[in-house]
Amino acid sequence: MTDVLRIDPELAAASPEKDDRFHRFKLIGWWDQQRLRRARVLVIGAGALGNEIIKNLALLGVGNVFVADMDRIENSNLSRSVLYRERDNGAFKAAAAAAAARDVYPDIKAHSFVGNIVHDLGLGAFRWADVVIGGLDNREARLAINRNCYKVNRPFIDGAIETLDGSARVFVPDGPCYECTMSKQDWKLLQMRRSCNLLSRPEMEAGKTPTTPTVSSIIAGVQCQEAIKLLHGMETLAGRAWVYNGISGDSYTTVFQRKPDCYSHDTLSEVIALDEGAADISAADLLARAKDHLGPTATLELCREVLQKLVCPTCGAEEEMFASLGRVSADKAWCPTCRAAGRADVRREVVTFHQLRGDELFARRPLSEIGVPPFDVLIARDGQGRSAGFELTGDAARVLGPLLGDDALELELE
Ligand SMILES: [Zn+2]
Ligand SMILES: [Zn+2]
Repeated sequence: MTDVLRIDPELAAASPEKDDRFHRFKLIGWWDQQRLRRARVLVIGAGALGNEIIKNLALLGVGNVFVADMDRIENSNLSRSVLYRERDNGAFKAAAAAAAARDVYPDIKAHSFVGNIVHDLGLGAFRWADVVIGGLDNREARLAINRNCYKVNRPFIDGAIETLDGSARVFVPDGPCYECTMSKQDWKLLQMRRSCNLLSRPEMEAGKTPTTPTVSSIIAGVQCQEAIKLLHGMETLAGRAWVYNGISGDSYTTVFQRKPDCYSHDTLSEVIALDEGAADISAADLLARAKDHLGPTATLELCREVLQKLVCPTCGAEEEMFASLGRVSADKAWCPTCRAAGRADVRREVVTFHQLRGDELFARRPLSEIGVPPFDVLIARDGQGRSAGFELTGDAARVLGPLLGDDALELELE
């Protein structure tokens, strides 16, 4: 008989006032547990870094956590994922991580988004958040998160790990952004990833970077501490990186410069919440509202490329798609007409669009039928620098689930 596992009934019955879970935090003079409880954090990626980020947020008592990831748990994830168990193999990472967060901190509201975060996660999810924390391993996703965060004026705390090394970076609108930090080599690698064909290739999305649970806990720890400071209005690493060399044990910070010609510095002047969701309004109707708001010169754009059609350069056959680039896999690229005719496989060209004039043949269809994800934001511009986002807020309840609720904290970002 093992007595060591027996629960002490006296301790178990202790009142919450006498045994407050967050008592030790409150000994920190400036700590505001209520602020953390109200905070809304979007965590992108539920891999090695994401696990440690979500674990920390739950331990810290952050009240609202939205986890986005498209992958399922595999056995090889278990060595770097504190939130997953062997029984979770085959489950979606985002859903398992949100459930585990609730297990760590039962009062948390945690919800998951399973899908491609570059193409299918509506911009409304970024606007919902007070802070966006990234746990991803590729430039394409970082660039997309960066642009989304700048559009809706949200801070982005990025983490990167490889072997025993890692870095944490904080980007806030007005300061240098992730794109400002990108070197020629970064662009080259990004172009390679996008090259040939824009369609999604799951085998490329799966990160094969060697990582360890030790460095992921170090970097995620720094990311979450930066989030705590941001949420308290304290000075952060904004515009800098904290770089850690795990072999030597050295660390240093580097300062980034803001590039004036950077494409990511596009913060919307305002965002208007619509009653409609993506299935309830057409591009033409939304354009009419944009003109009401910004005047007759207003144009409308999507905040991501949508796949309009696939066109065969050999036989000319076209196939209409109207889907997000994340939802069409690379094997769709081959022309079925040429294949049926016994010709060699021909790779079809991908035709995308992101602007709407209102006279397109498809402008009367609901936005959901032309590849706009739920809870997205469409951008109206008047050509003189004024912009307004129209958020498809009618989808908010469906996307956010239990996270729908109070307003975001008004953070002062410097
Ligand atoms: Zn920039
Ligand atoms: Zn063809």
